[in-house]
This record gives sequence, C-alpha cells and structure tokens, in this order.
Amino acid sequence: MSYVDEIYARVVEQNPGEKEFHQAVKEVLDSLRLVIDANEEEYRKISLLERLVEPERIISFRVPWVDDNGKVQVNKGYRVQFNSAIGPYKGGLRLHPSVNQGILKFLGFEQIFKNSLTGLPIGGGKGGSNFDPKGKSDREVMAFCQSFMTELSKYIGADEDVPAGDIGVGAREIGYFYGQYKRITGLYEGVLTGKGLTWGGSLVRTQATGYGLVYIVDEMLKHVNDSLEGKTVVISGSGNVAIYACEKAQQLGAKVVAMNDSNGYVYDADGIKLDVVKQIKEVRRGRIKEYVDAVPTAKYTAGKGIWTIPCDIALPCATQNELDLEDAKALKANGVKLIAEGANMPSTREATDFYLENGIMFMPGKAANAGGVATSALEMSQNSQRLSWSFEEVDAKLHDIMTGIYAKVADAAKRYGVEGNFVAGANIAGFEKVAEAMKAQGIV
Ligand code: NDP
Repeated sequence: MSYVDEIYARVVEQNPGEKEFHQAVKEVLDSLRLVIDANEEEYRKISLLERLVEPERIISFRVPWVDDNGKVQVNKGYRVQFNSAIGPYKGGLRLHPSVNQGILKFLGFEQIFKNSLTGLPIGGGKGGSNFDPKGKSDREVMAFCQSFMTELSKYIGADEDVPAGDIGVGAREIGYFYGQYKRITGLYEGVLTGKGLTWGGSLVRTQATGYGLVYIVDEMLKHVNDSLEGKTVVISGSGNVAIYACEKAQQLGAKVVAMNDSNGYVYDADGIKLDVVKQIKEVRRGRIKEYVDAVPTAKYTAGKGIWTIPCDIALPCATQNELDLEDAKALKANGVKLIAEGANMPSTREATDFYLENGIMFMPGKAANAGGVATSALEMSQNSQRLSWSFEEVDAKLHDIMTGIYAKVADAAKRYGVEGNFVAGANIAGFEKVAEAMKAQGIV
C-alpha cells in the first residue's frame, strides 16, 4: 500500500465518524501523492504524515450559561490546535448547531495549508461550539461568550493561539470574547482578530475574505485574457464572506444576480442591491426572503436550487458540502466558466472532480478564501507594532497576498505536471513550507 493510502486508512480507523475530516484529509493527501511518492523514504522515517494528520492538541470543554428564562444551558466548546510548525495557531471560532469535533478537525487541517499559502507566519487551528446564536438575545450571546472564553483563555495568547471569527461569530461575539479575555488575564494584547476599529482591529478585516476571493478570481481571469467586467455571478450565502464578495465583484463590473441563506435564495435579474442585503443581514439579522419586500421585482424561492441559475462565475460562500455533483452538472449545463470557493470545502469531492474533468476553472477554498486569515495576520502585525495602517495600505497588501497565492498555486501545479489544477497546486504549495518546517524542528 502506498504511504498516502496507509495514512488515509489510519485516519479513518482512528477517527471514527468524523466524515468531514476524512474527506479533507483524502482530498489533500490525494493531491500530494506526487510530492510524497518522491520523498517517501524520508517522510516515512520521520513519520511526517502521521504527525501532520494528528492535531498537536484538542481542548474540549463544557460551556454553561444562563438563558433569559433563568434556565442553565450547557454547550460543548472546542479548540483544535492542529499545527504550529510555521507560527502560532490561527483560525476562526464557529458557533453553529452543527459544530462537532470532526468538523473542527477538518477546518483546522485545511487551515494549516491555507495559512501556509498566505506566506505569513501562522499555524493552523480552529474552534467553536454547538451554540446557536440565532434567535438569542444580546444578553444570552454575551453570557455564552463570556463562559466560553473563561475556559478558552487558559489556552490562547498573542504568541500562542489567536482565534478569529467564522460562521456565527462576527464583531459582536469577538467583542464579548475579547472583553472577557482581558478581564481574566489583565492583558490588552492581540489575542483575537476581527476586533473593532477602536480597540485594535484592522481596517479591511471585515471585507477581507470576500474581497480577497474576488481579487484571486480577477487574477485567474487575467491569465486567460479576461476580466470580471460584464460577467454574471451567483453567490451563495449572505453572511460576511458573501456580502463582501458581492461588493467587490460589483465594483469590478460584474453583475451578481443571486444570493441565499439556509432557507432559500433570491434572484434579481437586474443585479442584487447590496445595501438591501446589508440592511437585512448586518443590521436586522433577518432572512434573505425579506429582500423581495424591498425589491418586488426580485424572486424568492424557498429551499435549495441557487446553482440552477445560469451564470459565468459561481462563488459558493455559505458552508461545507453545499454544492454537490448534481449542482456542478447544472452549473456546467448553464455555461459556468469559473468557480472559486469563499466558504471552506463547499464543494463535495464529486463536484470538485467534475470541475477538473470538465475544464471549469476552479480555485479551492484554502487558496481562494485565504484573504481573511491573511488580513487577520496583518491585524496581528499592527497590534505588535502598536500601529494602525490605512484602508488603502491594508487593501494593497491583501491584493498582493492574493496575487501571490495565485502565483504559488499555479507554479506548484506546473512544477508537478498538472498545470491548471489549482487543487493540487494549493495543496502542494501549502504543504511544502509546512513539511520543511516540521523536518527542521525535529520530532515534536
Ligand atoms: P456567516 O455566518 O457570516 O454567514 C454564513 C452564511 O451562509 C449565512 O448567510 C448562512 O445562512 C449561510 N448558510 C449556512 N448554512 C447554509 C446552508 N446549509 N445552505 C445555505 N446557506 C447556508 O459566515 P461567514 O460568511 O463568515 O462564513 C461563510 C463560509 O466562509 C464558512 O464556510 C466559513 O468557514 C468560510 N470562511 C469565512 C471566513 C471569514 O473571514 N469570515 C474566512 C475564510 C472562510 P443562515 O443565516 O440561514 O444560517
């Protein structure tokens, strides 16, 4: 059995029931075969892959808090500190009822390679809870966040582990986490990113993942002598990533015609009015169906189906495995040219294989959505320097990082004879740096 197959079998056996983690490991290892086969003896001797797929540490804890009826609620809390070979653990906190250890391991594993691709010194981690912020009062969210951080604060620090936002964690939650961290430790340090601008946050962090996604799409198009001008775009989700992907795509001349949330999607043939979406999602915390109240010419459809809308470019920006083989076929039949992932692993393995086999230009999440964590790392730099950079300065750095990621991914694919396969390129380029650092640091 090849080293890759051996390790995959071991991961499945030793991590029962963690199907998203198995999926992420398989995708990464499959595309690393060429590199691993070429270095098999050396890697086997130091058990490089065995160490790579095992988190350095997982912290799991109980999160008790009191709801508005005076009843005690208990959630599960986690932090997966996956790999610190190239820097302190860095990765978001997710608050969603679907959160479990396997999902956080998949996200933490992906984060290792994504963070490496940014070229910045950050290791891979991820955390969160099965707490659902939806429908909770501000006080309940604060009570949860304070309880969560009371425990997590023992394990994080500005040079140790620096969490950020993810699904269900925006500026409000980061604020409650930060306040509690400071209260417990007495430290005013860059321990979280995504902070507010008056207390250590970075300009562009809010926009970074969505903007970065569109910057890399623009770069992909430039390399085939094309641009976003006049393109029709469909974006799933209507949260942080989706909203700012829409904003940048519109600024670069594209027409975004559809967005969704977990209940259904809106189609606006005249182009999505982003101020309406922002009002619904960022101000009222409402549902995307309310869009048609403000724009009666648009159409709301309950349930799935957003990928049946014809478009040139599809940007899945909601959640994992939201786009399956059937969706991929529908996109292709309607003439899609390019797919880039704002979310983490939104395409199933079958869908990804379909894109690659059918000549659809495809950029996987770990490269395409790395702008968020990259700007988080820029926030860490500013915190260390006790400085704040201007919007233009951070945006220019983000743009450079995204074009740099494109170059690294394209180059790695070419070096290994799979030109244009950015899945392989992203995994190889991300892996090379981490493997080098792990080899240099001995058996730890
Ligand atoms: P948000 O919580 O801000 O938004 C998530 C959006 O996705 C919401 O509109 C949500 O709708 C929707 N959604 C969730 N589940 C489904 C589903 N099953 N079907 C359709 N829509 C769904 O999260 P973010 O925008 O921050 O994150 C989105 C994705 O991007 C995640 O995969 C995240 O890991 C990834 N990401 C985020 C980064 C960031 O900087 N924020 C950085 C890199 C990656 P509803 O309100 O109905 O739940």
